[in-house]
Amino acid sequence: MTAYDPNNIFAKILRGEMPCHKVYEDEKTICFMDIMPRTDGHALVLPKAPSRNILDIAPEDLAAVMATVQKVARAAMRAFNAEGVTVQQFNESAGGQMVFHTHVHVLPRHSGVALKPHGSGMADPEVLKAHAARLKAALDGA
Ligand code: 5GP
Repeated sequence: MTAYDPNNIFAKILRGEMPCHKVYEDEKTICFMDIMPRTDGHALVLPKAPSRNILDIAPEDLAAVMATVQKVARAAMRAFNAEGVTVQQFNESAGGQMVFHTHVHVLPRHSGVALKPHGSGMADPEVLKAHAARLKAALDGA
């Protein structure tokens, strides 16, 4: 398996070298908005420790990520009046992965509303800021 590249975009966000619309952070994980959302409220949950994906992540980091995914999914239901949540995670290029630091997508869903294509248009930063605030408020009120 290819080695972890510390210059991937999510590693730069984790080091504070690149901005993000942060929603949540704890000792082992962080959550911020996806810059090319496939739905309103599309968020990403990452471990802080380096790993490429599910194939090399330490089990304790994976457990921490999934605990945060559950928190964010529950908050997303309230924040976006969602009827459901899709959770996605891609591994290596052949598995659909584009950024090689482990991350899980949390996508609030409404019946009859299709997902936009993966990695399509960039969102308006003001919209991402507003969605991050909504999700954060729902998490804080949990
Ligand atoms: P994946 O690796 O799961 O296939 O896709 C990477 C995801 O990261 C995509 O949904 C893409 O929109 C998102 N993404 C790519 N670059 C950035 C970035 O600089 N900031 C944020 N917040 N998301 C990004």
